[in-house]
Amino acid sequence: MMIPVDDARSLLRHAVPLPAETVPLASACGRVLRETLAAPHDLPAFDRSAFDGYAINTGDASANFEIIAELRAGAADQLPVGPGQAVRIFTGARLPAPGLRVVMQEEASFHGERVVLPPGEGNANIRRQGEDARAGEILLHSGTVLNAAAVALLATLGSPTPRVSRQPRILHVTTGDEVVPAHQTPAPGQIRDSNGPLIAALLAEQGLPLPRHLHLPDDPAAVERGALAARESDADLVLVSGGSGPGSHDLSPLFFEHLGCPVRFRNVNVRPGKPILFGSNERRSAFGLPGNPLSHFVCFHLFVRPLLRHLQGLAPESFATGLTAQEMPKTANPRETWIPSIASWETGQPLVKLTPLRWQSSGDITRLPAANALMRIPAETPALAAGTAVEFLFTRPLS
Ligand code: AMP
Ligand code: MG
Repeated sequence: MMIPVDDARSLLRHAVPLPAETVPLASACGRVLRETLAAPHDLPAFDRSAFDGYAINTGDASANFEIIAELRAGAADQLPVGPGQAVRIFTGARLPAPGLRVVMQEEASFHGERVVLPPGEGNANIRRQGEDARAGEILLHSGTVLNAAAVALLATLGSPTPRVSRQPRILHVTTGDEVVPAHQTPAPGQIRDSNGPLIAALLAEQGLPLPRHLHLPDDPAAVERGALAARESDADLVLVSGGSGPGSHDLSPLFFEHLGCPVRFRNVNVRPGKPILFGSNERRSAFGLPGNPLSHFVCFHLFVRPLLRHLQGLAPESFATGLTAQEMPKTANPRETWIPSIASWETGQPLVKLTPLRWQSSGDITRLPAANALMRIPAETPALAAGTAVEFLFTRPLS
């Protein structure tokens, strides 16, 4: 039975998310936070000077001031400041008393030993305690990807070992009697393995570790042995390349059986990528991905990536909307099509423009390196004029 793309994507929710672990900040970037963090104290924690200058009492209109102390960043001294008195203070230094304002050194002049400062009101040039956030205010939510700014905020909050999702351990199993490693020259009838390097690189693009790799010939005994080895392994996700179709040499269903992962869907109403299998149990998930390289790429972005998000505790991602850059021909195909495209953004335009790339068949990746998006053309769609709104999925960030 063939199911729609959106139904297949929602079935991925049945996989069990990965456990959490703690990591040092140095390796936290790109990981998914699994705790919610509040400010443990006011931010800033104390009133501090925003500039190099002179701290005097607010409203003190003395003609000139006596400098009674000097405070550098890191100093914590508290001392009374009387009328006509000033404290020489530097950026980041804690204010020595309440009710002060800071006059920037650029505004100061000297009268002998005494400093002349313009009069003023308010608490100018002071970063007030709690003005950024109050103690207890929630600043980082569970289920967010830690970017560089979030890592800096974790450091500020005093969370040097945040709880994050453990990274998935992935096994990529290529299959096929005709498939040889890329460093080997194929004999007549053979082809080089591009899916192994493709998956490793796609995972690297997602900030995920290298998968382990196993190759199996199209032989039921070898497939059974491979599946049992995968079953005994610590892999959280097994990706099987090839052999997911209905042919007699298509052994992915046999692999799933010995892996012990019940199949949750098989065959999706999508082009390329129809013969896809997904299964999961309480320990791991598995995909059977069609061996054609373009299908492999499309299935990774449409199904594997959302599963990886779910495993890591991220909310599902929805498709974006863009405009076709050119007329799209009518399609009578009963399956929806995802076309490798270039998403580009023009100054002054509110939506990205999608330029489809040529593809000959699901085996053709010759133009794929230019793609940063997949454009969705629904089944049986009439010709679309240039500028028609369509759904798309970024495969790489807009550059
Ligand atoms: P399959 O899904 O096994 O029927 O394979 C579909 C097509 O993809 C066939 O032409 C295979 O030769 C090709 N193919 C299978 N595995 C790979 C691979 N690892 N790298 C490149 N092409 C492959
Ligand atoms: Mg095959």
